[in-house]
Amino acid sequence: MKKIIIIISVFFACLVFISGIFLVRHHHRLNVVLITIDALRWDHLGFMGYGKDTSPALDNISKNSFLFTHVITQANFTPPSICSLLTSTYPGKHKVFDFGYEISKDVVSIAEILKKKGYFTALISEHAAFDIIKGLDKRFDLFEISGVEKSEFKEKIKGFLNINKKPFFLYLHLMSPHADFKFLPVGYQRLFSPEDYFSQTINTLKSQGNKILPNVLEPGINDISYYLARYDSAIKYADSQIAYLLNMLDGKKLTDKTLIIISSDHGELLGEHGYYFHHRTPGMYEQEIKVGCLIYHRNHIEGFNTIGQQVESIDIMPTILDYLKIPKNRDMQGVSLYPLIKGDNNYEKKYAFSFSFSRGSVNHVVRTDKHKLLLQHGGVLSLFDLSLEESAQNDIYTTESVIGKELNLVLDDYIKENFSFRLEEHIQLSEKEKMRLRSLGYTY
Ligand SMILES: [Zn+2]
Repeated sequence: MKKIIIIISVFFACLVFISGIFLVRHHHRLNVVLITIDALRWDHLGFMGYGKDTSPALDNISKNSFLFTHVITQANFTPPSICSLLTSTYPGKHKVFDFGYEISKDVVSIAEILKKKGYFTALISEHAAFDIIKGLDKRFDLFEISGVEKSEFKEKIKGFLNINKKPFFLYLHLMSPHADFKFLPVGYQRLFSPEDYFSQTINTLKSQGNKILPNVLEPGINDISYYLARYDSAIKYADSQIAYLLNMLDGKKLTDKTLIIISSDHGELLGEHGYYFHHRTPGMYEQEIKVGCLIYHRNHIEGFNTIGQQVESIDIMPTILDYLKIPKNRDMQGVSLYPLIKGDNNYEKKYAFSFSFSRGSVNHVVRTDKHKLLLQHGGVLSLFDLSLEESAQNDIYTTESVIGKELNLVLDDYIKENFSFRLEEHIQLSEKEKMRLRSLGYTY
């Protein structure tokens, strides 16, 4: 009898062991699709409580996803932010401070780590200037960029999936909510009625000191409501692109075998603080640096799980690796969110950092769940209480000296560790690159 019990126990132990290997392997061989939607305001998405139907596809998958609602991006503009996301390092480490900078050879991207594990890695971007982030192309097996107006998105996705190399890592950057919205395809141009938006003439707004991105304006259309409605149409277009990708994955029976992560490189100001369709301001406002992240894996994540704790974009890469059971690289500065997803709640990072750099002016933010300290160029410090409504947030640096000093020390350490060099404007852009950036609406 004893023998039988031992044999049965050994048999079950083996079964548990083998299924354990299977589980590890299974996750290890998962495909990964990481999507960033440029300049997306997460409070304009249906599942985030927005009143308009901007995101049916994302609303649908959010029902079985983990949603992080407070993701602080490591910069308020594209090049440093996406390099932080892809390398899990702060901008001072990857050293991409703007277009024209080369990504540091000392940092490893998620694409390279996954490539070593046998993944086919691809970047498909609708941002036409991703190649002006120097060295980024070398990190991927396939690097395809094009302007949003001729993105041939469907053909590219179809082409990519037809390559049929598995497992794959696809990093997809969608561009439509980034102003100017002029390319929006027929059917997506006027999905929302301007009457439902804040109305004011452009001239009045300008005379009140508001800054409106010049290339967003169209001849003869003088009310801001038209452009605000266009922004939401552009979100719905990005949502339709994701719907297309999800359908394609489904058609290839890949959905259950693919981990999908959706986030943004930064947000956008839509009238707050006197800016329309701007980010990259020295104020580093919440609308610019706070985004969300949705993690979807069909049949493995059940229910709508929302986590409101503050996390950082650099945490996304270690989370993906943790999910795939691939060891974390020691140079990564982010922390896996997987414990939070599993309900362990032992994610213990208290501070988040963000960075802004424009025309030689460097600004830094350190943020907790409750407060935000802003260090502007020239050493000016401001402290804000995030528990108050935005309109009631005054600079309390002089009155809240304890919190102000604590955050100042934390920021000092961060700057010493990450920016131990003089950051100077040394963009090496050719005239051709400058022209391309100008044609995208940037001032270079
Ligand atoms: Zn961007």
